[in-house]
Amino acid sequence: MTEHRTDGLFSTAMAQFHRAADLIDLDENYRALLSQPKNEIIVNFPVLMDNGSYEVFRGYRIQHNDTLGPYKGGIRYHPGVDLDEVKALAAWMTWKTALCDVPFGGGKGGVACDPNALSRGELARVTRRFTYALGQNLGPEVDIPAPDMGTNAQVMVWMMDTFAASSGDASAAKRAVTGKTVECGGSLGREKATGQGAVFGLQHWADEHAYDLGGMTASIQGWGNVGANLGRLLHVHGVVLKTVSDHTGAIVDEAGIDAFDLSNWVDEYGGVAGYPKATEMDPNEFWEVPVHLCCPAALEAQITPEVAQRLDAKVVVEAANGPTTLAAEAILANRGIDVLPDVLMNAGGVVVSYFEWLQNRTAEQWSLDTVDRRLMDNLWAAADRVVSVMLEFGCSRREACYVVALRRLVAVYEQRGIWP
Ligand code: NAD
Repeated sequence: MTEHRTDGLFSTAMAQFHRAADLIDLDENYRALLSQPKNEIIVNFPVLMDNGSYEVFRGYRIQHNDTLGPYKGGIRYHPGVDLDEVKALAAWMTWKTALCDVPFGGGKGGVACDPNALSRGELARVTRRFTYALGQNLGPEVDIPAPDMGTNAQVMVWMMDTFAASSGDASAAKRAVTGKTVECGGSLGREKATGQGAVFGLQHWADEHAYDLGGMTASIQGWGNVGANLGRLLHVHGVVLKTVSDHTGAIVDEAGIDAFDLSNWVDEYGGVAGYPKATEMDPNEFWEVPVHLCCPAALEAQITPEVAQRLDAKVVVEAANGPTTLAAEAILANRGIDVLPDVLMNAGGVVVSYFEWLQNRTAEQWSLDTVDRRLMDNLWAAADRVVSVMLEFGCSRREACYVVALRRLVAVYEQRGIWP
């Protein structure tokens, strides 16, 4: 397994930003504004543990930019969560919402904890104390959390319930959190939205090159919300899933792994290790298995220069946030391996979160077909904008994503001005 590295993640995010800013000769004032988050909130809060003791946890909420609307972004529970990581993830949310024309800004949050080591009761108490500690920094017109690594729809429902209890406004509470269970106001299609969005992005890429996804081979790192949904959808589209890795190990089957059967196994046993219908392999060899589509869907900084040298793939599908380091991306470009960037490929989650927020405002429930169709329209329009910028500048797809986002932000800054 590759180590969890977050050192310098915000500087990676900023280096990507400055490259695109250079391309459009971005005004120095906007450059300075967008180079730092607007607010950095750190809270330390006590939680009653099952053994009767109290443990103090550290939580973060970074509000990068709200020029286009309320801050929006996931909440991560992972032992490696720190200020640098959350700042980078928040900035990426700003570009993602702007790129996809969603009327939200960019934010991200997290708690440094291991959710697998907490009981259900402890997880609920961590979530409730964290939400309470963030207080009025959250709200449907202020800052709207969603799930990310280590959190899920249940955690979002606890956040919503805590917001309702502490604010006394149950209606606003629904719209203050997205990614909830359907019973508690969530949207149909939100659970699979990030994986579904990656598939729509891939279909756009295949369409650009007149490729057929059916019969292509794939590898997926991470079999959580994003990885498993992506894997099952690719399976339905006739993609052969050759290898999967997660925090428990890696498995391979040249003939193809049944994504639905693997999901049943992971639900029961907590990871891919021991899956009886595939062969276990050394996780370090995961990247060398020849595939068309290599899909990192776990942690950041997984495709290092060393991995990029030995990666045997046609395209990297960044379902995770920040899986490719800057130096690795340069190596991939030299090797002719395409990179489909995170800000586009995993934007399905935030787009359907926006749909959930809209449904909560009007007390509607859209059908799954409506959600999927509107998601596809949104992402294909974003991908079209990206392709036209690639042609305009002859730049990389990531740079083009950033240019689209920055132009959107600059248009609003220019009209609104910078107060006072
Ligand atoms: P998750 O917690 O549901 O799953 C994470 C997966 O990563 C698990 O399968 C875990 O085993 C695996 N993993 C953890 N450590 C690993 C390691 N060292 N090596 C290999 N695998 C490891 O998380 P998720 O929600 O699926 O998020 C995955 C990625 O997608 C993150 O980068 C997240 O920011 C991004 N993302 C998620 C969403 C969403 O809607 N959930 C939206 C956009 C982006």
